[in-house]
Amino acid sequence: MPTPDYDPQNIFAKILRGEMPCHKIFEDDVALAFMDIFPRADGHALVIPKTPARGFLDMPPDALGPYMARVQKVAAAVKSGMNADGLTIQQFNESAGGQVVFHLHFHILPRREGVALRPPGAGDKASIEAHAEKIRRAIEAL
Ligand code: 5GP
Repeated sequence: MPTPDYDPQNIFAKILRGEMPCHKIFEDDVALAFMDIFPRADGHALVIPKTPARGFLDMPPDALGPYMARVQKVAAAVKSGMNADGLTIQQFNESAGGQVVFHLHFHILPRREGVALRPPGAGDKASIEAHAEKIRRAIEAL
């Protein structure tokens, strides 16, 4: 059941239903992970639950643990696949909190020493698939 205020026409709901394309890197019965279309760092990935939750506070607590385990798994693969020095993991709630797409998601951003994040919307789309492939291979190797 969708949680209150969940709009099933949001873009990530469409990706989950296969109505919109994505560079998928992981999927199971709990979560889907794919590349952010405007990467703020090379290898910027998103992990969304299959549960239709608008934000973190809307997620049923018993579904949160399994989802977070997938967030951790994808984060490990992003770090190793992108050979990153570190990770920034972000999650935004409501417009005031920086949320733009209203289906719960965690951002996984591989970081390199001394390299700043790009501004929102400024990423290089051409290399997204190559980065996705590195992360897919890292997930298989976990
Ligand atoms: P937030 O809601 O946490 O602020 O961020 C939403 C994220 O979704 C942004 O980083 C944005 O680049 C990304 N995004 C927006 N539309 C699409 C889309 O159609 N496909 C993908 N893969 N990412 C998207």
